[in-house]
Amino acid sequence: MIGADEARSYVLAGLSPLAPLEHPLAASIGLVAASTVTAREPAPSFTNSAMDGFALRANDVTASETRLRIVDSVFAGESSNVVVGRGEATRIMTGAPLPPGADSVCPREDAVVEDGHVVIHHAVAVGDSVRHVGEDITVGQTLVEPGDVITPALLGALAAQGLTSINAHPVPRVGVLSTGNELVESGPLRAGQIRDSNRPTLLAALARSGFSPVDLGTVRDAKEDLRAAFDAARATCDAVISTGGVSAGDADFVKVVLAELFGERARSMQVAIRPGKPFTFALDAANATPFFGLAGNPVSTLVGFELFVRPALRRLAGQRDIDRPIVPMVLDCDLTRQPDGKLHLVHGICRVHDDGRLHVESLARRGSHLLFAIAQANCLVMAPDGPSLAAGESVRALVLEDDHLNAV
Ligand code: AMP
Ligand code: MG
Repeated sequence: MIGADEARSYVLAGLSPLAPLEHPLAASIGLVAASTVTAREPAPSFTNSAMDGFALRANDVTASETRLRIVDSVFAGESSNVVVGRGEATRIMTGAPLPPGADSVCPREDAVVEDGHVVIHHAVAVGDSVRHVGEDITVGQTLVEPGDVITPALLGALAAQGLTSINAHPVPRVGVLSTGNELVESGPLRAGQIRDSNRPTLLAALARSGFSPVDLGTVRDAKEDLRAAFDAARATCDAVISTGGVSAGDADFVKVVLAELFGERARSMQVAIRPGKPFTFALDAANATPFFGLAGNPVSTLVGFELFVRPALRRLAGQRDIDRPIVPMVLDCDLTRQPDGKLHLVHGICRVHDDGRLHVESLARRGSHLLFAIAQANCLVMAPDGPSLAAGESVRALVLEDDHLNAV
């Protein structure tokens, strides 16, 4: 057996980000930039009002209840050439350029208007309620560096610069195929047959993590069928995941076929984790496409996806941070087990409690075949080899979903 870290390092060693492409900016959310972008324009691009109110000269308004003559009015999208002279003010709306002569703005709610004049209640300081040119961005400033993730705010800031496309790593296209003679596509089940759950699970997990899933169907436990399926997959996908056929059964041909196809670049491992011990990884030397042969049991499949596949796919996507957050949590129940030399991966439900800490309850029913039992899990406790853990102990867990952390 090898440790989970060693298996993970082995997988990651052969992988690098997919070749970058030019993407429409509007479709670039979540992508990882591959080139530097510098600012062409300042932001704000002109000095403007932060409030609806009155543009004025702060020197005129050093005392309360100062009366100024209104000389003009300026709306967002317009500009005014009327100079604001001593004792004068211009009505101004949020986002309108500051008129010449003015150096500050008094908000509408701090003044009253009476017969063509405005009375300003309080003293105003130079620059009050003014948004200055270049305050957010100066020309030539670096806006994007290779490895930066396109967030909504970054996308918006780039759009505001007039950019319409960006050079970024593409979203990996990831093929998923299930293996096993027991799997049936549709219709009634005969004795011993089951419906495929791994493929829908993985396709959904891929979509959830922002990858582009490709359904490659089911393949029978026959070497020539598996060979044909893997061969076809490497032409269309950036990565391929199969489930089943990697352990010690007499029909476990996935590892055999991957070894035939990729020789030394295929490695069948016994990883010291529970569940998910058998794992085969292969790299197609021709186009650097990784193949992940995950164990067939549904929970093992998901564990293998989280530990080995997801970080690897994030590497292909160009992500600097390839891991989910791993955080300490208070164990809220006993976790019974025997020492067995393995890292135990236990799905659980975690929430932020009143003490401000994350607490986790492991799910009562554990078994690599119990898929529905983990359907509500939002974390994966990582308990290194050892005896049972007692409620109150601290554990580390991978956060899988963060939408309901505060819903105690
Ligand atoms: P294997 O790794 O092929 O020996 O499969 C281990 C267990 O997982 C067996 O009970 C299989 O029937 C089950 N299994 C394999 N593939 C799937 C699948 N795609 N969906 C649901 N269960 C599966
Ligand atoms: Mg099988």
